[in-house]
Amino acid sequence: MSILVVGSIGFDFIETPFGNSGKIIGGAGTYICLSASFFSNKISVVSKVGKDFPTSYMQPFIARKINTRGIQVDQNEETFFWSGKYNSDLNTRITKHTQLNVLKNFIPEIPPHILKPEFLVLGNMSPQIQKMVLENLNSKPKLVLMDTMNYWMSQELEQLKLVLKKVDIISIKDEEARELSGEYSLIKSASKIRKMGPKFVIIRKGDHGTLLFYNKFIFFAPSLPLVEIYDPTGAGDTFNGGFIGYLSKSGDISFDNMKRAVIFGSALSSFCVEKFGTEQLQSINQNDLSDRVQQFVDMVQFNYEIEDL
Ligand code: AMP
Repeated sequence: MSILVVGSIGFDFIETPFGNSGKIIGGAGTYICLSASFFSNKISVVSKVGKDFPTSYMQPFIARKINTRGIQVDQNEETFFWSGKYNSDLNTRITKHTQLNVLKNFIPEIPPHILKPEFLVLGNMSPQIQKMVLENLNSKPKLVLMDTMNYWMSQELEQLKLVLKKVDIISIKDEEARELSGEYSLIKSASKIRKMGPKFVIIRKGDHGTLLFYNKFIFFAPSLPLVEIYDPTGAGDTFNGGFIGYLSKSGDISFDNMKRAVIFGSALSSFCVEKFGTEQLQSINQNDLSDRVQQFVDMVQFNYEIEDL
């Protein structure tokens, strides 16, 4: 089934306790697309880059059969740039620079071939842009997932609330769920956020796992304990891409199938953090993914007899 991804594509400069990445390809849209491409070859991306974006940086998209017709190139502006520095726990980071550049006045132009996507992922971007995308589509997708961050909560809260009313799923980090809801308890946070619009709430807790909330139900998936954690950048976007990719492959958007999608999304994000940027996502194959999903299953599966109690 078709997937439309709208998200930033640009340059990242990442500092971790192990060194820095240099200026590399990044952006939420990049991670979402690469991850979703493990399940679908009907992915189209809408974004904008500047005059300094090398054509060779399109290669990862082309290699994974992602349709790039929706990437506008502005010859008068610089590409989006983000840099961040991780603390020694690797779970927390500070943003050192966010230069929106071409994304400042970005008006998304959706190519005619993808005006009726079955699945839509609105990556972390200005809520005004997210709203424009929803208004410009020819029909309502089967499922819409959005991401956001504290930057947009402080800059464009009213617009963000309008977008929340129109999406099915929000996927956010725990601290952002707390900020949006004003609640410390993640159960109360999810409940308040669901009242703002989305039926499903995904709360990502970094290496502490992921929660999926729907009505009274909660599903929890751990993060895989890893030998190497190098760079957590893009782990959330990779999760979102894998989650939607998995659902689009089966076409089943039930809560039960979403539980499986959470595991596939978590498996892909466990690869993402093993190397800087998108390097590991670009190097793994379908067999690597199956093996890792099996590791998840083995890690959480156990049997017991009722008599044991
Ligand atoms: P994550 O680690 O999941 O938060 O995603 C990191 C990615 O988000 C990086 O590749 C950044 O380029 C991108 N990013 C960071 N801030 C923004 C922003 N304000 N708008 C769009 N993309 C962003």
